[in-house]
Amino acid sequence: MSGNTPAYAWLNGTIVPWDQCLIHARTQGAFWGANAFEGVRAYWNNSDRQLYIYRLEDHIARLRASMHCLDMPQTYSDTEITAAILELLRANRYEEDVHIVIVPYFAMGRNFDPLCHTEDTGMHITVLPMPRSPRYHQGAKAGISSWRRISDDTMPPRIKTGANYHNSRLAQHEAVRNGHDTAILLNHRATVAECPGSCLAIYRDGVLSTPPGTSGVLEGITINAVARLTAEHLPLRFERREIDRTELYLADEVLTCGTLAEIQPIVSVDGKAIGKGQPGPTTRMLQELYEAEVRLNPTEKYSLAVY
Ligand code: PMP
Repeated sequence: MSGNTPAYAWLNGTIVPWDQCLIHARTQGAFWGANAFEGVRAYWNNSDRQLYIYRLEDHIARLRASMHCLDMPQTYSDTEITAAILELLRANRYEEDVHIVIVPYFAMGRNFDPLCHTEDTGMHITVLPMPRSPRYHQGAKAGISSWRRISDDTMPPRIKTGANYHNSRLAQHEAVRNGHDTAILLNHRATVAECPGSCLAIYRDGVLSTPPGTSGVLEGITINAVARLTAEHLPLRFERREIDRTELYLADEVLTCGTLAEIQPIVSVDGKAIGKGQPGPTTRMLQELYEAEVRLNPTEKYSLAVY
């Protein structure tokens, strides 16, 4: 690394200097956001002197699901993608928490129809240092967005593609303009969907609830980990069901979870304090269980050692 810029990136099969990880402005990927992507975290464990990639297999499986829905050729095997990521992390010699982004994209196509189907695709992989958000500790203030979450009949949120994040940006920018840290999007039925880049759960009366995959959400890997950690370690029930807006206001705790966000407490919604207006004990317990799994005591089942 020189300064804040990584030394290397990966483009179409080769490690390249960061500044040469370039694709043409008129590729469908760059112009229309016609891509699929995954964001993956790797955690640095200082006592092991080891970097652990968390749940790479699940991320690659979801990448393949997105590509399948987009009719994108699956050019690289799981083994090749994994090898590319390991090579890139080792080349940059990271000894800190990082965020890996894998992006297969549609390239030019052979004719002048910019929306044509094309088998002409490419892939880039980049990694940036990614320390934990201060909101992990302090919690975030959320506002209900005036923008509705995209839905399966228009832009399926189950597909993780750059184009979908236009909806997330509208919501996030509005939330920040209105003095919140993040947004909560409702779907077209006006029930709770998710945050711009993470899933949402509420805790009330001993039950942890999150909207199902049919509520206009990305099928989250972190929420699945939360479901399993809850079943294994906590005396709570976990359920997937539609959630009303007012249930957010009445919850004992609200939390958001995603690869980048990890597990973050939401301390207010629309200016109304959630519980005592501070991160609650269930969220804190889930953070501890998650931290143990991703960093402190990772297992081969879920984590891949880089060095
Ligand atoms: N929803 C959206 C819109 C996201 O971008 C993300 C982050 N990938 C999530 C939910 C959480 O998914 P995951 O836990 O798999 O990162």
